[in-house]
Amino acid sequence: MQFTHEHEQVRRTLRRFIDEEINPRVDEWEAAEMFPAREVFGRLGALGLLGLTKPEAFGGAGLDYSYSVVMAETLGHANCGAIPMAIGVQTDMATPALARFGSDALRREFLAPAIAGEAVACIGVSEPGAGSDVAAIRTAARRDGGDYVIDGSKMWITNSLQADWMCLLANTSDGPAHRNKSLIVVPMDTPGISVGSKIRKIGMMASDTGLIHFDGVRVPQRYRIGEEGEGFAYQMLQFQEERLWAAANAIEALANCIGQTAEYARERQAFGRSVLDHQVVHFRLAELKTEVEALRALTYLATGHYVAGRDVTEWASMAKLKAGRLLREVPDACLQFWGGMGYTWDNPASRLYRDGRLASIAGGADEVMLGIIAKRMGILPARR
Ligand SMILES: Cc1cc2nc3c(=O)[nH]c(=O)nc-3n(C[C@H](O)[C@H](O)[C@H](O)COP(=O)(O)OP(=O)(O)OC[C@H]3O[C@@H](n4cnc5c(N)ncnc54)[C@H](O)[C@@H]3O)c2cc1C
Repeated sequence: MQFTHEHEQVRRTLRRFIDEEINPRVDEWEAAEMFPAREVFGRLGALGLLGLTKPEAFGGAGLDYSYSVVMAETLGHANCGAIPMAIGVQTDMATPALARFGSDALRREFLAPAIAGEAVACIGVSEPGAGSDVAAIRTAARRDGGDYVIDGSKMWITNSLQADWMCLLANTSDGPAHRNKSLIVVPMDTPGISVGSKIRKIGMMASDTGLIHFDGVRVPQRYRIGEEGEGFAYQMLQFQEERLWAAANAIEALANCIGQTAEYARERQAFGRSVLDHQVVHFRLAELKTEVEALRALTYLATGHYVAGRDVTEWASMAKLKAGRLLREVPDACLQFWGGMGYTWDNPASRLYRDGRLASIAGGADEVMLGIIAKRMGILPARR
């Protein structure tokens, strides 16, 4: 992938925003288990960072996906995973299908405010009874006159307490599971929606994750994104961007964790020399840095294919899998070299250890990624 002056400008602008407006407040937001999404998104929108790859007609910059990857990578400099995740939901998880397949009227009403940072978006795919197996969702949107009437529940929804609208995946007919779904934009103040209290988690503390119920929720059919019955296919496409984003977002967070650990280990003395001078320590950190650069290379390769218009289902799955694996391995190894300090709550390695654990579960678990890769390799056993 070739980076231009414009890529560097995105990096610089976002990095300054993170250093000046996010990192000084991260500890306060983590302790409060909430961050002011509207305020942060408003500032990002004013900087033009919420619509890099979105159409110019709706306030975006119309750039290719490499810019999203640069943004996700730079967000890795935030001192927690929760804020990047919330931003990623807004830019690369809840809005790609709307931007690509939504009608102009729908994009004016919902995409433009999301790009401007005036509206917070969330994505509703997972349910209490179906996460990995997206085809098995139960939430239904039944036609009634010119409306859909929605009943069901969505679980684990990021930005749930603050969202203005949801990109909802629901069954709109009884047909085969891959052909009976639609994506629908649902304003969160519609009567019949109830948002449960925040789910307590082991990490991503500043992120509001919730369970949302739909009881006879009525929205006009014109709020459907694209064609009825194409929702599963649109969501699979949307997942490609989510997975590339997740891989890119891991890179700098991992590299920083290794760097901070090296700095600490250099200062800390044990057995007459610095902890870093013990070969097992500096060799391990060198090995992990090599792994992180391999992830960077894989992510850039996948992004290059995507920008060239190829199907990157397999590449994006590999990159996401590798990111998930490294987000378990790197903070675990680093935490060890901080000793007791690594076992404290606010330590950077311990925060990445908790926040990063999500990557192997959400947006497609490691096993789901392995299934996709094995299928593309032609080695996945046929279902009986
Ligand atoms: C903090 C957080 C934020 C989230 N944000 C959102 C959001 O904004 N919107 C949204 O829609 N969802 C969100 N999710 C949900 C997330 O995408 C799901 O948790 C994930 O897809 C896994 O689904 P599940 O939890 O139902 O696990 P299950 O589907 O019950 O799977 C449990 C485990 O079974 C194993 N497994 C599953 N399938 C296979 C297989 N084929 N082969 C072998 N093993 C398998 C895996 O180890 C998996 O972890 C979020 C989750 C969390 C925890």
